[in-house]
Amino acid sequence: RGIITGGTSGIGLAAAKMLVRDGAHVFIVGRDAEKGKAALTALSDGKGKATYVEADVSTLEGCQKVVEAAGEGNAKVDFLVNCAGMYQEEALQDITEASYSKMMDENVKSTIFLTKAVLSLLSDDSPSILNIASDAALEGNYGCAVYAASKGAVVAFTRSAALDLSPWVRVNCLCPGDVNTPLVKKQLEEGGYTVESMASIYPVGRIGEPEEVAHVICAVLSPLNGFMTGAILSVDGGLTAK
Ligand code: NAD
Repeated sequence: RGIITGGTSGIGLAAAKMLVRDGAHVFIVGRDAEKGKAALTALSDGKGKATYVEADVSTLEGCQKVVEAAGEGNAKVDFLVNCAGMYQEEALQDITEASYSKMMDENVKSTIFLTKAVLSLLSDDSPSILNIASDAALEGNYGCAVYAASKGAVVAFTRSAALDLSPWVRVNCLCPGDVNTPLVKKQLEEGGYTVESMASIYPVGRIGEPEEVAHVICAVLSPLNGFMTGAILSVDGGLTAK
């Protein structure tokens, strides 16, 4: 039993599919009832089950709502995937206090405060928290300094949380490169470039598929992975191997 924020779309939905397929009860968190309904349909044929929770995890109220839903009847949870997040390109000259706060709230505040809120629900049986950062946390990139700073914060938070919560909870972080999701579709549209140009910088010659990241998410969450905590893992087609 566990929670995936951003579980109605992209990487989070792909991970929810694999976990529900294998028998987990997954609470998928999103902000859009229509997307929630569509995701529940996509998740309806697994051995496990899915529950949609509508909450904005960039607010403390939203985090509390998630905890109340997943912890109903004093239930415990075994995993949390902090996958909800946003991407926005913005020239340094254009950054405003509002755009900064939005990015930090969506990507950092949500991760920190949902992690804090979920502690009261975590089981004693090798629970696992997995944060989704980005290759942008590990190397510089053009036109997305605040995004990169927010994901760098997620990486740093992961390491310290892993220390604070050991040996009870394992806390790890994935840094995906570009993955074929609605987030990247929006990025391509807004940036006015093509998936081919995006793919051309990857040693493997293409961008990733959500299922390829979901597979790693499941492997990291598994209790069989009991010796890994505080790890920052790249799933990026070799992008940061250079
Ligand atoms: P996506 O847009 O397909 O899915 C993210 C979901 O999270 C969306 O449904 C969105 O509405 C939801 N969400 C965002 N903020 C939320 C909030 N405050 N409360 C509740 N729900 C919220 O994106 P994705 O590509 O699947 O990305 C998932 C994660 O992976 C994000 O953190 C993203 O930054 C990260 N990431 C993605 C890529 C990529 O190329 N797709 C690369 C690196 C990192």
